[in-house]
Amino acid sequence: MSTTLPDDQHALVALDQAFAAAHAASRAGEPPDYRQRVAHLRALLAAVRAQRDRLAEVVSDDFGNRSRHESLLAEVFPTVSSLEHTIGHLKRWMTPEKRSVALPFRPGSARIVYQPLGVVGVISPWNYPVQLALIPLATALAAGNRVLLKPSELTPATGAWLKELLNGLYPADLVEVIPGGPTVGAAFAAKPFDHLFFTGSTRVGGMVMQAAAKNLTPVTLELGGKSPAIVHPSFPVERAADRISAGKLFNAGQTCIAPDYVLIDRARVEPFVAAFAAQVSKRFPRLRQNPDYTAIISPAHQARLEGLLDDAIAKGATAHEVNPAGESFTDSRKHPPVLLTGVSDAMAVMQEEIFGPVLPVVGVADLDQAIAYVNAHPRPLALYYFDRDRRRADGVLARTTSGGACINDTLLQVVQDDLPFGGVGPSGLGRYHGREGFLTFSHHKGVFHQAALNTAGYMSPPYGAAVERLLRWVIGR
Ligand code: NAD
Repeated sequence: MSTTLPDDQHALVALDQAFAAAHAASRAGEPPDYRQRVAHLRALLAAVRAQRDRLAEVVSDDFGNRSRHESLLAEVFPTVSSLEHTIGHLKRWMTPEKRSVALPFRPGSARIVYQPLGVVGVISPWNYPVQLALIPLATALAAGNRVLLKPSELTPATGAWLKELLNGLYPADLVEVIPGGPTVGAAFAAKPFDHLFFTGSTRVGGMVMQAAAKNLTPVTLELGGKSPAIVHPSFPVERAADRISAGKLFNAGQTCIAPDYVLIDRARVEPFVAAFAAQVSKRFPRLRQNPDYTAIISPAHQARLEGLLDDAIAKGATAHEVNPAGESFTDSRKHPPVLLTGVSDAMAVMQEEIFGPVLPVVGVADLDQAIAYVNAHPRPLALYYFDRDRRRADGVLARTTSGGACINDTLLQVVQDDLPFGGVGPSGLGRYHGREGFLTFSHHKGVFHQAALNTAGYMSPPYGAAVERLLRWVIGR
């Protein structure tokens, strides 16, 4: 029995047509020049600015409450900022780069020409459904590509909004949106794109890479993982709790780079829990009806979080629920923050990415033990370290490998437009944002330009004394 739904069948037909149109267009005529690309980006910038309120509404509809300010801060602002950065730098990024030429080949010249790859596929997740769709899409357009986007089925209102927005801005053979779930996602990943850009879970990332491998399609995988926050004993616990709670509770913890767990000196585990709870009470005197506190995306995701808590408690962890107004959360998509102490690696909460407002706080003997713990686990997407001593912080950065890092705060590495963003090992493959994004979506074509006067003649038969002299010179005696 087929599990394909009629909607999926419709989407699969649309996918075939959209791919064929974009592919044919990418192989005909010239790719968009600088002016056209800037016009594409400016159109998107103006539309996102103009529709910021609508955007916040549709995302909130999908979440059953997403803080408007979180949507403006984490969807609109990064998208606008990234577009402005790209528009401001694109001319320089597109300029061919001169490279050196070895003596025997002079006066020929060498350069790298940055060329569009062709058709780029973008698969996006639900947790930041606008910025994680539009920033890759805009960066691929900046590099002169055509783009098909498959947004997440868990944010259908945002997906429909994206489709309407993009269809209004671009011809269908330049940008098209294909809505759908895993069936459509699998068919999408199987298309012979020139590049596939995936943001989502490590599990599905592996499936996408397998599908892409059949076509030798290069992939960028922006995945997840368990990002640690390490607090040095000298760092004030209130300050650490302030910044870690801010990063953890943004979007109710549904952030790929959210601090997943805390490593802190044993004596300060309880003070950290108290300081975290105090921060929550200050920021969210009430949670359930508070528009600033974002809901969990679906009942299934809520059940998963409950399952993680039940498993941890059954195996001996202590749960510290932070519920400042003593509210009930029955029949609510909101989940109160919960800190866990006394955790062990036998618990699922210390094995899986948490992706919600649950924070294990692990006591360690010293910094070396914290670093050893991180290094004994899969390489994370982010690492947070709290310490005023720069040399010690550099030492922690040198001794750990993570996609990115932020010292003395959380999340802010992702909004630095001039920094690459991406994971390492199981947290991802490849990078984007800023110039690295442009390079990801470009073919770096190496071009040698032969000069009218050159030595090439010596290198062809009949080989004589001249080539012998040349070889002695280039190889050495
Ligand atoms: P997911 O992997 O379940 O889904 C992501 C996308 O893949 C969706 O559009 C989905 O429809 C599609 N998909 C599902 N099955 C597919 C298949 N077989 N082939 C192709 N596509 C398929 O992830 P999610 O639940 O939407 O997002 C949460 C995860 O994403 C977390 O692990 C989080 O850490 C990660 N994430 C990473 C980043 C980053 O930038 N590194 C950003 C946000 C989220």
